[in-house]
Parts: sequence; structure tokens; C-alpha cells
Amino acid sequence: MTAVARPTPGARGDAGTVRGSGDTRVDSRDEVQDREICMAAWDGPDNPSGAVAPPVYQTSLFAKPTFERFVAEQAAEHENPVYSRGTNPTVAFLEERLALLERGEAAKCFASGMGAIAAVLAGTLKSGDHVLFVNTVYGPTLELAEHLRRFGVEHTALPDPPADIGPWIRDETALIYLESPGTMLMRVLDVPALTAQARRRGIRTVIDNTWATPLFQKPLTLGADLAVHSCTKYIGGHSDVVGGVLVGSREAVREVFYQGHQLFGAAMSAMEAALVLRGLRTLPVRMAEHRRNAAAVVEALAAHPRVAAVHHPAAAHGPDEALVRRQFRGYSGLLSFELKDGSFDGVARFMDALSLFRIGVSWGGYESLATSPQRPGNGDELRARGLPPGLVRLSVGLEGAEPQIADLERALAEV
Ligand SMILES: *Cc1c(COP(=O)(O)O)cnc(C)c1O
Repeated sequence: MTAVARPTPGARGDAGTVRGSGDTRVDSRDEVQDREICMAAWDGPDNPSGAVAPPVYQTSLFAKPTFERFVAEQAAEHENPVYSRGTNPTVAFLEERLALLERGEAAKCFASGMGAIAAVLAGTLKSGDHVLFVNTVYGPTLELAEHLRRFGVEHTALPDPPADIGPWIRDETALIYLESPGTMLMRVLDVPALTAQARRRGIRTVIDNTWATPLFQKPLTLGADLAVHSCTKYIGGHSDVVGGVLVGSREAVREVFYQGHQLFGAAMSAMEAALVLRGLRTLPVRMAEHRRNAAAVVEALAAHPRVAAVHHPAAAHGPDEALVRRQFRGYSGLLSFELKDGSFDGVARFMDALSLFRIGVSWGGYESLATSPQRPGNGDELRARGLPPGLVRLSVGLEGAEPQIADLERALAEV
């Protein structure tokens, strides 16, 4: 794991400046700092050539000059390169960048986002504990929680987040797991209120911050104890690598390192870290473009006669809009919308008529993607998951709003 010196806190309160299509705003100090963090050159000690990218430390182990040094370093494997299932310098450089970006003290990278989530859930909970999941949480996360019942870990899932989660907190609740926004209906949680409630009861909070990226939402500054990301999505951004990260206090990340990383084996490799780092270099530039394109797509869909509703924070109304303004510095490009024709055939006709948007899972890459939870005859299942019929999810990529909207309008004409 990699620990960093606490960064100078950025200008808090800047978070309230989200705007619809927002490319007119003045850069905040936080944004300038974030760009420096993403783009900082490799500054390892053994770099006489001045390489700006870190070497890919393609090695499983690190031999030490003396037995004494070996013993000392092995006693703190979370911060010393001894064996690459634990710590590797290429991975450590990426971890340092991600910790700084999330304004955390430390970070640990994993072979996937699920690796990071599993490490938190399976690595820190014990039999008799209870977890409260708030919002439409990533499907495999809840599936994993189901498996944990076999080990005596109970959970409650609140896909439709109530104003007050108090009644669902038990004496045994050891973890409150948030996802904001969710990645099906993009519903936003009041993160400061929820984390304050958890803190008063002495309960740890973890938040899946994949949608917003560390650029657009900094949950640790909103009171969360841990943030997890799938680096497979925007942070990697090129659909060529799977990875995950966990960020938090030095102590909390260290606990997960020994109980959920080192022993579970979902280690990120040096090559993957180099790829994720290459994505991170352009994260601010890409997110500005995803945001611009998504805002235009949201506007076009909201005005379309064959669309019943659009789900994206840029389309939030009322109290949600105020929440969005307080908590986010920008919007990412993942959104969903409801076709008025909510049948499987309607969804299939729409999907098959797309050409720029490809049909596929995952999101956050350069390419535009479309998917849907709709299956023949699964209306009851959708209702149980709180999902409306005719729901289509789009990952708005970097091709530009004009061809993206043209593709969507062409496909909508086929529904
Ligand atoms: C993809 C995803 C994950 C899991 O990440 P992997 O890298 O695929 O393991 C977790 N949370 C959210 C919100 C995701 O979209």
C-alpha cells in the first residue's frame, strides 16, 4: 500500500459549482491541484535517465542486500517492495497518485474493482456483523454480500434510499456501504448526512465513487472513511485494463492490506498499473469532454417524444439538484433513460439500430456503449430491483455529441 503526506486541503466549497453543460467555469484551486497530481512525472530514487514514466517493475520479488534489511522490510510489507503480491514500485506510484487525488492518506490497488470491494467486505467483516447497502449498488457487490451470508455476515439492501436510514441500522451494523450516484438510475445520496449519521454510531462507511471519479466527487472530504473505484472505467479510460483501488486513512488501508489484499491475492500487476497510470494522465481532459457530450445527450434525450425519462445528475430536479450542486464538481458520461415502449422488443429494436454506440457491458472508456437490464419476461425481476421497464444505459464516450445524438435519434426512430 502507499501512504502519502496529507495534501494541503483544496478550496472546499468549490464543490458547489456544477453546471449543466459547464465549460465556462473558472478553474478552481482543486482542479489545478488535481491536474498536477494526474500528470506528475515519475520521481523514483533510481532514475538517473530522468524517465517521466515509471519503469514497469516486471519482477515477482525484490532481493535485499543484507538479511537484516530483508527482515526489516518484510516486517512492513505494506510499504516495502518484498514480493509483488504485496507491494510493487510501479503499482505504488499509481497508488500514491490516487491517494492524493481522493485526498486520502493511503491507497491500495487491486486486480479489479471487485478485488477492492471484496477486500473491504470479506477482509474486514466477521460473523455476526451486518452491512447496510444504500442505493442501487453494483450488482456483483450485492451478489458477493449474498455469499457472505455463508460466513454469518448479514446485510440489508436499500435500493430506493430513504430520507433517514436510522431504522435500518442495527446494533450489529459494522459497515454502511454507499454508492453515489448509483450506476443504473444515477440516484444521488446526501453523503455528508449519511456519513455523519454513521460516525455518530461509530460505524465505518465505504463509498463506491466510480461514477464520479476522484475528480468530480471527493467522498473522503464528505465524511466517508473509505472510497473504492473500478479503475477499469474512467480512470483507466481506454478499455484495455481491469483494475481497482481503495483509498482511505493510513490505518484503514493498512488493515485491508493485511486482511483483504495480501491474503486474498487480487494484486494489480506492474503492467496493469502502467496502463492505468497512462489513463490517469489524461483523466481531467477526458472527463471534461465526457461531461460536455453527456450534457448534450441528456438534453437531446429529455426532449425526445419516444423517451419517458432521463436519469443523470444533469437532469436532476428539486432537492436532488441542490445535492448535486453541493457534492459534485462535474458530471461523468454514464446515464440511463426509459423508452416509452418498455417491451423487450422495443429495447432490442433500439439497440440493434445503433451503430456508433456499441452493445456491451462496462463503461467509462473512450467508446460509446449501450446496454439494458431488460430480458424477455423479466418484468418482475426488474420491479424487485427498482428498475423501470424500457431502461437503457448509455456510456457516452469521446466521439463528440453531434454524431452521438444523431446515432441515438436514428435508433429511437426505429422503436
Ligand atoms: C465495474 C464496476 C465495479 C467493479 O469493477 P471491476 O473492475 O469490473 O471489478 C464496481 N463498481 C461499479 C460501480 C462498477 O461499475
